[in-house]
Amino acid sequence: MIDLSNFNSIIGIDQEHMQVTVGAGIRLFDLNRELESHGLALPNLGDIDRQSLAGAISTGTHGTGINYHSISQAVIGLKIVTGDGGILECSPTENQNIFEAARVSLGALGVIIEVTLQCVPAFRLRAIEQTTSINNVLELFEDAIGTADHTEFFWFPHTEIGTLKINSKTNDSPSYRSPYKAFLSDEVIANGGFELINRYAKFFPQRAQKILENQISTERRISYVASSHKVFCSARRVRFIEMEYAVPLECLFEAFQKVREATNQLDHPITFPIEVRVLGADEIPLSPAYGRKSGYIAVHVYRGSPTEPYFQIVENIMRTYDGRPHWGKVHTRTSQELSDLYPEWNKFQLVLEELDPDGHFSTPYLDRVLRN
Ligand SMILES: Cc1cc2nc3c(=O)[nH]c(=O)nc-3n(C[C@H](O)[C@H](O)[C@H](O)COP(=O)(O)OP(=O)(O)OC[C@H]3O[C@@H](n4cnc5c(N)ncnc54)[C@H](O)[C@@H]3O)c2cc1C
Repeated sequence: MIDLSNFNSIIGIDQEHMQVTVGAGIRLFDLNRELESHGLALPNLGDIDRQSLAGAISTGTHGTGINYHSISQAVIGLKIVTGDGGILECSPTENQNIFEAARVSLGALGVIIEVTLQCVPAFRLRAIEQTTSINNVLELFEDAIGTADHTEFFWFPHTEIGTLKINSKTNDSPSYRSPYKAFLSDEVIANGGFELINRYAKFFPQRAQKILENQISTERRISYVASSHKVFCSARRVRFIEMEYAVPLECLFEAFQKVREATNQLDHPITFPIEVRVLGADEIPLSPAYGRKSGYIAVHVYRGSPTEPYFQIVENIMRTYDGRPHWGKVHTRTSQELSDLYPEWNKFQLVLEELDPDGHFSTPYLDRVLRN
């Protein structure tokens, strides 16, 4: 109901300290481009760049890397419109409690209109993507968590195949990628072909599964160098429904194996890969990575396909590992359960009570996860 798309420009840049203040409605792809033109970048990003900055930080949007954090961690100042129409400036030195809570706040505390970000010098990444057996991927991934800047993997359900992605900082020059080949691989195969297979799978799930297996079964390795945001983010044009959980890092492999076993027993084949990432601990009260190094497990189904019993089974597994759901993705948890998972839950509740006692900003979702 509130459109911040015109709050989309750079308001101020402190080049010396690499701090940038922007309108909170700016889309990440515009932000990344603007930062790059000033020799700056965000240290870590998620899979896509279509979100608004405010939407991304409000839900704890994250990428991967055990020595890195969610986008919210880069926030060092905020301007927020509260329920009584007042405007509050918040930072570690001004309205500190509000600042900490507001960095992941689901829109519950008010409308964030400006954000100040701590950036880093613009950098390039070398991306290495390797498709091989899932057991091989698991071994390589475990090693890469501690040695590579950013690593994640995908497992293709009902197969023994996985893809490992490792992105490491480099001073190498960007590598040339033929526009035709890039279009063929990113648009025609990754998006167009995948969309067609998913449509087909709605009517012929077992046959679609075979086609998918053939598509991915070849051992494949690609490597390229590009600006960080071009490596972190890609186009995701096939619509899907997703659930993602953060579990303590030490439980990640066990939790993944449980998901793997459960997925293999489903009657209806799952056509979307499961994505596994890692993240460093932070101290933002409602961040799913609060106080613990985390492993993230994300499951997806094609839009319009039933999420059950798949999501319910996975969610039950996540419960047993004190999993915290991604705030911007599907889950069924309630405030009663969530309050036990977040040590600083009450700190957030105090700020909520102070800023929006009458629930001006509440929604049925917020009532379920924060208020009841
Ligand atoms: C294809 C796809 C890929 C994704 N990949 C990732 C990923 O790699 N990692 C990850 O963590 N997440 C990922 N996400 C989730 C995504 O980052 C979040 O859902 C994000 O919140 C979407 O941003 P938005 O601008 O659309 O926000 P909206 O959907 O508009 O809002 C999301 C939340 O933020 C609040 N909000 C929005 N604007 C403001 C504001 N100005 N002030 C206060 N609150 C506000 C809203 O109230 C709402 O609670 C992905 C989503 C999609 C669709």
